[in-house]
Amino acid sequence: ADEYMIIDLESHTKDDVMLLQKKICKKIEEFIISEKYKVVFTISTGIIYAKMLLKYYDEYRKIAVFSLKQAKSMGGNGVYFFEKEDYELFLRKEKIKSALRNAVANGFEGFDVYYQPIMDCDSGHMIGAEALMRFSMYQDKKKEPVSPVEFIPLLEETGLILPAGRYVLDKAVSMCHEMRQYIPEFKINVNISYIQMVKSDIWKDILSSIKQYDLPPECLCAELTESGYTDMTPYFYKLRKKFEEKNLQFVLDDFGTGFSNLHCIVNMKPNYVKLDNDFTAKAMSNARDFELLKKIVEMVHSIDIRICIEGIEKEEWYQKLKEIHVDYLQGYLFGKPCEKNQFLNKFIFHCTDQENLTDL
Ligand code: C2E
Ligand code: CA
Ligand code: CA
Repeated sequence: ADEYMIIDLESHTKDDVMLLQKKICKKIEEFIISEKYKVVFTISTGIIYAKMLLKYYDEYRKIAVFSLKQAKSMGGNGVYFFEKEDYELFLRKEKIKSALRNAVANGFEGFDVYYQPIMDCDSGHMIGAEALMRFSMYQDKKKEPVSPVEFIPLLEETGLILPAGRYVLDKAVSMCHEMRQYIPEFKINVNISYIQMVKSDIWKDILSSIKQYDLPPECLCAELTESGYTDMTPYFYKLRKKFEEKNLQFVLDDFGTGFSNLHCIVNMKPNYVKLDNDFTAKAMSNARDFELLKKIVEMVHSIDIRICIEGIEKEEWYQKLKEIHVDYLQGYLFGKPCEKNQFLNKFIFHCTDQENLTDL
């Protein structure tokens, strides 16, 4: 077809190989010009060590295919030199993707939903929780937890975020229903990926889910990050309107890490914004960053929007934020994300006194 393998036993360095690659490119360019641009080619070049290929043909053929694929993904005329680490990462991703596919096909085996409390800063009372997806791969009957930072992008890449997101939504709404027996105003926050927004009628899913459990729409907060929406501000506004019409809550997650400015936020009108863990940690260890955090809180409040600060790990951080009138808090200090039953035991059955929740 249009793929060729050149085994060059004369080249010994990367420079040698690049010289050969340039020579080929030049010839092809000359050909294109001589054909008066009736045909246009670009060439992608994946490079591996020939000696290895000769020794372990089968395995290294796969590596050659991988290297070419990498070069192609770099765009026209890409050149990629094989790196073992890239290949290992690729294999790991393929393994996780296959485990995710199997898990979704097998009734979400290996998936779980954890919950982390969200506190009212002023009173220290729990007002709700954030639902966080968990996934473990099974190999030789051994369970290996995979970090959401690793598997969520793969769910998005494969489109599996649609069924997996529905699974989380259903579990989360059911948990909220249970919690409202003890805390009537309890709200549940669910993370929604950009893909879920464009490829599914997410508000319909949400509405049918809360109807099933007989809950009011305002008990569900959809957490959206702005990062996926760069250059799509009008689309974001449209979604926002839909949420408002249906009385669903909308929270802007990872606030300050994307493109948002005051104008965007005024138009988006989130019910509240969430400031990321990384920002909190920086602000707590550096006076200038804390000043910035203070200004952000003032700014957000000045346009009548509330703010939740994530990543609260120490009591003194909590006290500092209380002084500047932050609205909501979330972090290990109040509780690490845990399974539903653990959550109930910790926050409802073992400690019914709301005053003491922050001591847990
Ligand atoms: P996120 O939405 O920003 O969630 C907060 C993350 O901070 C969680 O990480 C949580 O475990 C962690 N965290 C909470 N308190 C503290 C603290 O005091 N200190 C520190 N250092 N970290 C804290 P997690 O569970 O690993 O989730 C990572 C990300 O994966 C989430 O970030 C979210 O973007 C995504 N994610 C999780 N579940 C879902 C889901 O169901 N759907 C979608 N689309 N994304 C999800
Ligand atoms: Ca979130
Ligand atoms: Ca966040």
